Amino acid sequence: MATDSKLAAPALVSVNPATGETVGTYRCMAAEDVREAVEVARRAQPSWAALNVHKRMEIIRRFRKLLNQRTLEVAELITREAGKPVPEAIAAEILVVQDAAEFSARHAVEVLRSESVPHSNLAMKTKRGKLVYEPHGVIGIISPWNYPFSIPATETLSALVLGNAVVLKPSELTPACALKLQSLLHESGVPRDVMQVVLGEGAVGAALIDAPIDKIIFTGSVATGRRVGVAAAQKFLPCVLELGGKDPFIVLDDADLDVASSGAVWGAFMNAGQTCLSVERCYVQRAVFNRFVELCAQKSQLLTVGDGLDRGTDMGPMIDARQLKIVEDHVADAISKGARIVTGGRRLEQLGPNFYAPTVLTNITHDMKLLNEETFGPLLPIIPFDTDEQAIALANDSEFGLAASVWTRNLRHGKAIAQRIEAGTVMVNDAIAGFGICEAPHGGFKASGVGRTHGLPGMREMVRVRYLDVDRVMMKKPWWYGYKGSFREQIHGFADAMFGNTAVARIKGALRSAGILTRPKI
Ligand code: NDP
Repeated sequence: MATDSKLAAPALVSVNPATGETVGTYRCMAAEDVREAVEVARRAQPSWAALNVHKRMEIIRRFRKLLNQRTLEVAELITREAGKPVPEAIAAEILVVQDAAEFSARHAVEVLRSESVPHSNLAMKTKRGKLVYEPHGVIGIISPWNYPFSIPATETLSALVLGNAVVLKPSELTPACALKLQSLLHESGVPRDVMQVVLGEGAVGAALIDAPIDKIIFTGSVATGRRVGVAAAQKFLPCVLELGGKDPFIVLDDADLDVASSGAVWGAFMNAGQTCLSVERCYVQRAVFNRFVELCAQKSQLLTVGDGLDRGTDMGPMIDARQLKIVEDHVADAISKGARIVTGGRRLEQLGPNFYAPTVLTNITHDMKLLNEETFGPLLPIIPFDTDEQAIALANDSEFGLAASVWTRNLRHGKAIAQRIEAGTVMVNDAIAGFGICEAPHGGFKASGVGRTHGLPGMREMVRVRYLDVDRVMMKKPWWYGYKGSFREQIHGFADAMFGNTAVARIKGALRSAGILTRPKI
């Protein structure tokens, strides 16, 4: 089971990416610990599911209130562990989670409500069918470091309110945030065995998939997601895969350039670009291209980069040296292929080892890594286009399909373009915000994933459907054995009575089927 105690090796050390200070040292769990946690959860889940749903809703709402009281404490922990400025931790984590808690409590009854299934087939008219929705059992959640509280929390809350137990494996880089989520849930009344955190590296995630869970909700990179998908397929484990993105941002020449450039700068640099929904490719109509680049460069230079705990910091550090290296590699590759750095393009070593300047680039070509691979860093490559068709083709020229945005004053035109972009979420005149709309499903097309979290589609991923059918008349069915005699003509007549192509064929079919009910059956 999870522990936040500081124990001996093998240890998991969580480090503040801005300062290098140790946030906490935790015991790295073994595969047997993970299996044990899942078995404990399996034993606890039936009584959690048997609680009245209103009781579970009350507990989730109590969690929401508790989180609200602890806003600053939790936000500062997120900042210390993941580096983002405190206001971002409040907006994109604490606020999003409170909204998701209310949403999941508000919709739990609706998602669990059975639906009757009327039968149109005359032969089935004595039956009553219904769809019964029930929790899967134990849901495994594997989450990344970039939104270390809101990603696991939104998924956990909807799983719990619907009667599942949860075993959460957070990123090795952000264990403290997951343990905080666990302790707040326990304090709110979720039984300890019903929500557990297992800590460790990737192997612990693999052990969780291997353990007897009933569904896996994975959020992370495409490479790991593919491994998770294969491991899940081996045991027919249902899975949701929320993977990477390379989101396009299309600016039409009638857009308000001041608004759109602020949107691009925020969308590319929030959380130092380490957001699955980050603006990673910016396409701007040629007539306004130069002005747009100039505005983005000016606004990027106004950003204060530093420790996210300091008031006024706009952009914090990258999570670690490995992530920063990817950014440097993408920039070097782009420069070698002719890209121009308009602003930034370098480490900010005076701030610490993990800081990189907000960077705007032009002269971009589609063979550059920064247009094909997810950068996950503070880069804003800006590319001109001439026509709508060109913008749509460029936007769709990617293996990813997570989200996209279109910026224009002509909303009808914007919507028409949005509908042709291959992405799970497309926004007109905003970017990233879909993640903060609790009603909006979150998830991608193509390599960006499978299934949805958030919104009603996300809640429905947390239940399985059972078809329940009751025949109110205890009788031998007309289609059972006893095929001798005229059964062949009778059943053919019955099929024609239901589906004959003309009224005459249907009447004749009904006459031929006479006696089908009373014929002798074995
Ligand atoms: P990773 O894929 O590296 O890791 C994600 C999680 O999977 C971590 O908890 C990791 O553990 C764990 N893991 C690693 N190997 C395995 C394995 N073999 N089996 C099971 N679990 C494993 O992603 P990052 O943490 O680096 O997160 C960044 C990525 O997440 C980006 O690609 C980003 O786009 C994507 N993302 C997608 C979102 C979406 O909703 N679509 C939202 C946010 C991020 P450990 O860290 O301990 O190795």
